[in-house]
Amino acid sequence: MKEMYQSLGLDDDVISYGEKVLQGCWQRFAAIDETAEYNQLKVINAMQKCRVSEACLLGTTGYGYNDIGRETLEQVYAEIFHTEDALVRPQITCGTHALALALMSNLRPGDELLSPVGKPYDTLEEVIGIRPSRGSLAEYGITYRQVDLIDGAEFDYEGIRRAINERTALVTIQRSKGYEARKTLSVERIGELISFIKGIKKDVICMVDNCYGEFVERIEPTEVGADLVVGSLIKNPGGGLAPIGGYLAGKRECIENAAVRLTSPGLGKEVGASLGVLPSLYQGLFLAPVVTAAALKGAVFAASLYEPLGYVTVPNATEERYDIIQAITLRQPGALEAFCRGIQAAAPVDGFVTPEAWDMPGYDARVIMAAGAFISGSSIELSADGPMKEPYHVYFQGGLTFPHAKLGMLRSLQEMKSAGYVKL
Ligand SMILES: *Cc1c(COP(=O)(O)O)cnc(C)c1O
Repeated sequence: MKEMYQSLGLDDDVISYGEKVLQGCWQRFAAIDETAEYNQLKVINAMQKCRVSEACLLGTTGYGYNDIGRETLEQVYAEIFHTEDALVRPQITCGTHALALALMSNLRPGDELLSPVGKPYDTLEEVIGIRPSRGSLAEYGITYRQVDLIDGAEFDYEGIRRAINERTALVTIQRSKGYEARKTLSVERIGELISFIKGIKKDVICMVDNCYGEFVERIEPTEVGADLVVGSLIKNPGGGLAPIGGYLAGKRECIENAAVRLTSPGLGKEVGASLGVLPSLYQGLFLAPVVTAAALKGAVFAASLYEPLGYVTVPNATEERYDIIQAITLRQPGALEAFCRGIQAAAPVDGFVTPEAWDMPGYDARVIMAAGAFISGSSIELSADGPMKEPYHVYFQGGLTFPHAKLGMLRSLQEMKSAGYVKL
């Protein structure tokens, strides 16, 4: 084993430090495995209940009428999320598209959208019109209101009560912290928030941006009152195999609104050929609980590796986790570059390239990214990025297998050590 790690570029002290740290992780890993086991059974149970058959894997072309595979997969998602219906489509191009679809189809001119958990994910700023943009909700006369968390942590219940008015039609709740400093919300806390909101206005639609959260816990937000959950198939629920796609699961009415917006009024869910992607969507969903567990273990290992070296990690090595994202404050630009070099050097694809910071559109600082994925842009695969600005946070997630995540973390540490940022 040691020789194998050496041939992948690791020094002996990095290898032995890693092994020592790993010894302290097994108990956490056992709990993660137990959640994966529970969720694996949930997925199998749903597939059996919906009578997934060989014919479901075939797919259709053209209009895609009577696509039994597509229809059954949507039932399977509805079963897993305990919802009336679901929309799971390769025509939904990414997570942002899925969220935009959910918002644009369930809001009408004159309605107001509320985020009670602070600023939503960057890409939604243009969808909503927080940053003026062509085609935004704002252009259609849909207004937006936001209530920030108190100290980035607690719900501002009074602020939320004041913000809800007769035009408030939909509340969007982001489960994952994304690239914000706040903590990720547990499903339980999301449930408390939704109960409070429904107590003020019963008929408001509560939507959860579920990105990076699927299968991390045993329950999903739709089991604690959410009317709609939305996510990307090139994150957790695609299990690393889905080559494209997004999903919405929720109340029949919400899904029907989204379906007629995605295709056309009158056509709704009846069209949308699945082409050849169904086997990957089914098999990816089947693998998703275990793949999510691998990513979680990688994140726990990373926090356990860096915390004793004096780095601030969010979440830290011991706290409960509600999504797969890990952040480490690296404090120096060179350290951020070294970290990303290490992740890249551990990749199965493009492992030979060196990541460099660049001026990414829409960001105020240069951004450095490391990714060597089989599915382009997939962030359930091991990937890292960070803006080149104080305090030099690196955010990373994924790893289809724990051994790969582990290698990535050790390789990052190796680069940090070689560049003189850490001493072991
Ligand atoms: C990834 C993500 C999105 C957007 O998904 P894309 O597939 O990148 O468009 C939205 N919200 C959160 C919290 C995310 O993590």
